[in-house]
Amino acid sequence: MSNNGKLAEKLQMKKNNIFETADKEKIKLIFDFSEEYKMFLDKAKTEREATDFAINLAKENGFTEYRLGERLNSGDKKYYNNRGKSLYIFKIGSRPLDSDGIHILAAHIDSPRIDLKQVPLYEEGGMAFFKTHYYGGIKKYQWTAIPLSLHGVIIKKDGSEIKIRIGDNAGDPVFYINDLLPHLSQEQNQKPLSNAISGESLNILVGGMPLKEGDEEGSVKLNILNILNEKYGITEEDFISAELSCVPAFNARDIGFDRSLIGAYGHDDRVCAYPLLRAITDSSSDKTVLGVLADKEETGSLGNTGMQSMLLLDIITEISNTLGYSPISVRAASKCLSADVNAAYDPNFPDVYEKRNSAMVSCGTTMSKYTGARGKSGTSDASAEFVGYVRKLFAENGVQWQTSELGKVDLGGGGTVAMYIANLNIDTVDLGVPVISMHAPYEVISKADLYSTYEAFKAFI
Ligand code: MN
Ligand code: MN
Repeated sequence: MSNNGKLAEKLQMKKNNIFETADKEKIKLIFDFSEEYKMFLDKAKTEREATDFAINLAKENGFTEYRLGERLNSGDKKYYNNRGKSLYIFKIGSRPLDSDGIHILAAHIDSPRIDLKQVPLYEEGGMAFFKTHYYGGIKKYQWTAIPLSLHGVIIKKDGSEIKIRIGDNAGDPVFYINDLLPHLSQEQNQKPLSNAISGESLNILVGGMPLKEGDEEGSVKLNILNILNEKYGITEEDFISAELSCVPAFNARDIGFDRSLIGAYGHDDRVCAYPLLRAITDSSSDKTVLGVLADKEETGSLGNTGMQSMLLLDIITEISNTLGYSPISVRAASKCLSADVNAAYDPNFPDVYEKRNSAMVSCGTTMSKYTGARGKSGTSDASAEFVGYVRKLFAENGVQWQTSELGKVDLGGGGTVAMYIANLNIDTVDLGVPVISMHAPYEVISKADLYSTYEAFKAFI
């Protein structure tokens, strides 16, 4: 090697593709973990299903249900089920909480999708549809003309709950949002992408067969209500107390000849939620660790299942009090990885990225010291000291990772839950998997980045 080469190696920073340096054994670890992740993706397409999955995994690993106010001891393994839509999973360690704090990992388990309105069902043109109000930041045109499955709950008049999951098993019917044929799209084609499909045209096709004896208006709708009544015992009014969502009916698949990538609905942010769960349930750390699976991130983290709720503060306070610590000093000593996805650099759209500060696919989990755009607006911005702490930890544990921000300064932007945790006086930085086509019905991630995120979480807790 030339002198310049040696000097460059010593002084210059370089991003490395994990697959390039991984040995056979490591690649097997990466691929095996990915198979388990894909099973999670197919089982848990909504926050409710992800919470159910997480509770089962927690129970299998000896965690028991926590009730607020319950006494806790070192060694306890607990989960707190927040209304079936968000989960807190924690382990009480043996280190002093006022100096070591709680090591927190926070990811979200809601993903962009199409929610039903409370009066959804109507009939027109011989077809029955559900009216919808989409959830989170979607490009509406991407959600037409693809198979959709229906997920959620209906609370009936008597208070009983019906769980709905139709369209994900082979043999199930699926649902659909109509789009215009190209032959009649001349006018639509002239519209900007954001207006080509309106929110009110995202109607879900749910049937087209009238009741036998009635050819009067409304009999396709009546037939659907009749089918739903026979199957679930519900009437039209029961939709008012329901939470029903349409998500893509695709399951997770390997992408590419080399199978290095995974395509799936809702990697954002289940690709962080899954390694979070695994890191905590696999860990035998003596630290006190807390994992949060939050709801409502995609709509602003509001409400009692979102990250802005008081519940995180309450749980830290309860843990501190029962163990005899001041919750204020525990928070001051606590640390958090806000585990959310980032945009992977996409060579098909190079104009929106600043390449030197973009996350590259397969180069590892990516840290964003700050989010926001146009003047770092809306970011908590981690301190250099905390980034230094995490960096040292990753170096000591052989975690391959990278650093990035989301897109160009004047273009980019996208918040995470980091600021809500940082506001509690907890050192927090964003870390997670780079995603291609984020918020599309089918997103893509690298298996190497998934595994790197798992390794990063294990090192942190
Ligand atoms: Mn996210
Ligand atoms: Mn998102």
